[in-house]
Amino acid sequence: MNQKVRTRFAPSPTGYMHIGNLRTALYAYLFAKAEHGDFILRIEDTDRARYVADAVDFIKDTLAAAHIIPDEGPDIGGECGPYVQSERMDIYKKYAEQLVANGKAYRCFCDASGKHATGEFGGYDRTCRDLPQETIDAYMAEGKPYVIRQRMPLSGETSYFDVLHGNITIPNSELEDQVLLKSDGMPTYNFANVIDDHLMGVTHIIRGAEFITSTPKHVLLYESFGWELPVFIHLAPVMGQNEDGSVSKLSKRHGATSFDDLVKMGYLPEAITNYVALLGWNPKNTNQEIFSMDELIAHFSPDGLSKSPAVFDYNKLGWLNGEYFKAMDEAEFARIARPFAGELNEALSSKWEYLASILKPRLTRLDEIPESIRFLMEMPAFDASLYNNKRNKVTPEKAAELLPDAVALLESIDEADWTTDSINDKINGFVEEKGVKKGLAMWPMRISISGQTVTPGGVTEILYLLGKKISLERMKKSLANLSAM
Ligand code: GLU
Repeated sequence: MNQKVRTRFAPSPTGYMHIGNLRTALYAYLFAKAEHGDFILRIEDTDRARYVADAVDFIKDTLAAAHIIPDEGPDIGGECGPYVQSERMDIYKKYAEQLVANGKAYRCFCDASGKHATGEFGGYDRTCRDLPQETIDAYMAEGKPYVIRQRMPLSGETSYFDVLHGNITIPNSELEDQVLLKSDGMPTYNFANVIDDHLMGVTHIIRGAEFITSTPKHVLLYESFGWELPVFIHLAPVMGQNEDGSVSKLSKRHGATSFDDLVKMGYLPEAITNYVALLGWNPKNTNQEIFSMDELIAHFSPDGLSKSPAVFDYNKLGWLNGEYFKAMDEAEFARIARPFAGELNEALSSKWEYLASILKPRLTRLDEIPESIRFLMEMPAFDASLYNNKRNKVTPEKAAELLPDAVALLESIDEADWTTDSINDKINGFVEEKGVKKGLAMWPMRISISGQTVTPGGVTEILYLLGKKISLERMKKSLANLSAM
């Protein structure tokens, strides 16, 4: 029987969750689930200088919001815990000592603060690599602080196979005798990562391309312990488009780069996850672009991963998000959109569900709401030029001629009967009676009550939302302004 697939996401809690990290987590999750395997969350918090309080909660919350659900991890448990590296110190100590005992690592007493003389290639000069045993014993008896370093082979080369990038080979002469365990017993990333991936039974390591060059050091550690190598998949980076058309690593200057910031802008978590999945991965044999998490799992396979960088396209994400809005239940959309609308006047607040249904098919992000409904809260300043409309043959003069009848028309509708149906019936009757084109009649009405040429919803919808009183006030004021010209 094949070994059960186990993948992991191993973030360092150094701050917010960049979209590239989220993508790494997502691919590791999708692959595990596609293979009916396990997905592990492991917190790599050994770099205390870069530790950010709350970052662990932030990582957990983000994964939960993105529906990336670990099978094992902090708070969840599992057979290979603890899943936080700072709680596994005795484990690293044991394995570092094992390497010292079999000659694959050595104690270095040079300067426990970490400042060591440099050798020819800029790394540690290996002063302590071959200290006589008596010297080591004497230092140890004295209680002299030390670090434990990996004894790199001085010649030959180290290779490994990466699923996306093929064979990667590095001459061993380029490898520094890196620190595995610091003088306070804290492991370095390169050491703890290997120990944990092995002990946690990780079969496939999916992570960013920035680790391609550290992997030979990891491979040498696996070999030193006689452990089987996992499969390596190093993902191409996520890029952002610069103003001059070039691309560079996605960063704040391209726009929001964290899951959380994108959610705050009103992208739906499901749409973000869907978009991120397609950022460097293509499903085979389908043009489908909208995927639920279950569909992603069903389609996911590493063959679809791209080895070239992916460019984050905010417009594409907006389009996808809009598609999610369209597919959403009306009441649910109204509920999630409401906080983005801010404070509404009474009329709009009581008609929120209706207003939301008008906005729903038109938005790409929820934070577009305040701008798109501002004209309903407050009439924009008078601008006679807006009444010009070539297609419908409207001019400000023509509008001034038509509007008194429109006012009379609205006045004839009973307040209690102020519904979209009756407003619509009246307008249609009016157009017929006047024998004018509908566009000609509607344009002056639209401008006179909204003060803008483009609105979510047509004249009927806007009249309904504003209510009889405000609609008439606005129309009369606009007419007075037009007549005063
Ligand atoms: N702690 C590393 C990071 O946050 C993990 C790298 C890996 O997945 O091996 O980038």
